[in-house]
Order: sequence, then C-alpha cells, then structure tokens
Amino acid sequence: MRIDLLGIFPDFFTTPLNEGIVRRAREARILDIGIHNVRAYATDRHQMTDDRPYGGGEGMVMKPEPLAACLATVPPVAGKRRVVLMSPRGAVFSQRRAQEYATFDQLVLICGRYEGVDERFTMRFVDEECSIGDYVLSGGELAALVIVDAVCRLLPGALGCADSAEKDSFSRSLLKHHQYTRPPEFAGVAVPEVLLSGDHAAIARHRFVESVRITLARRPDLLSGLLLSQEESRLLRKEGLLTAVEEAGARHAPSLA
Ligand code: SAM
Repeated sequence: MRIDLLGIFPDFFTTPLNEGIVRRAREARILDIGIHNVRAYATDRHQMTDDRPYGGGEGMVMKPEPLAACLATVPPVAGKRRVVLMSPRGAVFSQRRAQEYATFDQLVLICGRYEGVDERFTMRFVDEECSIGDYVLSGGELAALVIVDAVCRLLPGALGCADSAEKDSFSRSLLKHHQYTRPPEFAGVAVPEVLLSGDHAAIARHRFVESVRITLARRPDLLSGLLLSQEESRLLRKEGLLTAVEEAGARHAPSLA
C-alpha cells in the first residue's frame, strides 16, 4: 500500500514515520509513504499557501491552487485510491474505517491548516473528509499520522504477531481484556490465577468474559455490533452477563446445526 501526505509542514512527519511498526513496515516495503510539501507549489514570490476569507471574518484559508498543483504531482498507484481531507467536519475515524482504508492501494491524506481549505478544492479533488474526533487541532498532520498508524497495523505482515490486530480493541465490537506480565504479584495485586494455569481454553474463556465485562462498563454502545456464538452465549449466561449484553444490542449467530 502507498500513503501520500500533503501539507505545509512536511518535517512534522519525520520522526513518527521513522519509528516502531510504521518504520518496519516501510523497510519491509509493506507500506510506501510519500510526503509532499504544498508550499513548494505556491506560485507567488512569498510562497503563500493561504489568503483572507471572502466575506470577512477571522483567520486565513488555504488557497486551492497550490493544493491542486501539489496533488497533481502525487504519483498514481494502480488500483483503489482515495483522497481524504483531514477535517473536523468529516465522518469520525474508527477501527472500521481503518479496516476499509487498509484495503486501498493508495490513500492520499490532505492536511489543512489555518481556518481550513477553500471549498472548491474539496469539492473537485477530495473523495471524503475525515475527522479523528470532536475537537479542533491546529493542523491535519497529527490526524493524518493517527490514520497512517492505525491503517499500517492492519496491513498483512506489518505486525510481528500475525493475529494481534484481530484481537485488538474494537475489532470484534469489544474492548481488550486486561493484560499482565511478570512479576506474578505487584503492589499487592496478584495476576488472576487462571492466567498462570497453562489451560489455554480456560484462559480464552476468562479473557472473553473480561472483555465483555469491561465493554459493558466502559463502552456498552459497542456491543450492538457483537455477534455471539452459542458457546459464548452459554458462558455469558453462566456468568450472569447475557441479559445485559442482549439489552446492549448483541445478537446471536444463527446455529449451524
Ligand atoms: N476552522 C475549522 C473548523 O472550525 O472546523 C478548523 C480548522 S483547524 C484549526 C485546521 C486544520 O486542522 C483543518 O483544516 C484540518 O485539516 C485539521 N483538523 C483540525 N481538527 C481536526 C480533527 N478533529 N480531525 C481531523 N483534522 C482536523
């Protein structure tokens, strides 16, 4: 996959894209990144990429011409491509959206600054607007980096342990269970005994029930996307959690028998 980032502060991306999982994915050619400096496509003497808003008001607006000229230089990759503008007005980014983006061959992320981007650029060149949450950042760079990181984790081969993305929070409409490492006791708190038992089936059941408990307590809204197997329903009934989970909207997978 290739991700292209367009903005007026290209140095912003240097460290985050050269650390950890993203760096390894780039080195392994699982992910190619292109960074494009919009300012280099400003045509006036002062390389201005912003101007005053028509109609007055505070702040400046990003000019459409440098953005369009910069976008035109982004090398196209064969296959599915999407141009996404970082914007607090966009649909809110989620694990589901990350999964969708990970199926693209090329993602072009446009980072706004100032009061935002001239609407005519958005209208003509942008496929969709994407927000990373209901708050306002000073620029789209941090938002774009969040998207790169979340998408990168989902690319085949990007993570060391092949199935850990599938067991992440949100992947199955559940939050992740608690996790522990050595020592077996810390600050007066012992690791749950079952995790030391070596009984993998019992550990899997314990973790599933814990995930459900945590999701019920913290994000019951997620449970409307949960599909329960018969075994899971039996387990939750035994733990006294089934009614609460059903009330939160979880459904039962049809029986295969
Ligand atoms: N005046 C705009 C408004 O009220 O919607 C906010 C502009 S913000 C200061 C500048 C740029 O930061 C935006 O054009 C966008 O690219 C980026 N940005 C700010 N908040 C964001 C968010 N929550 N998600 C994605 N991008 C964001």
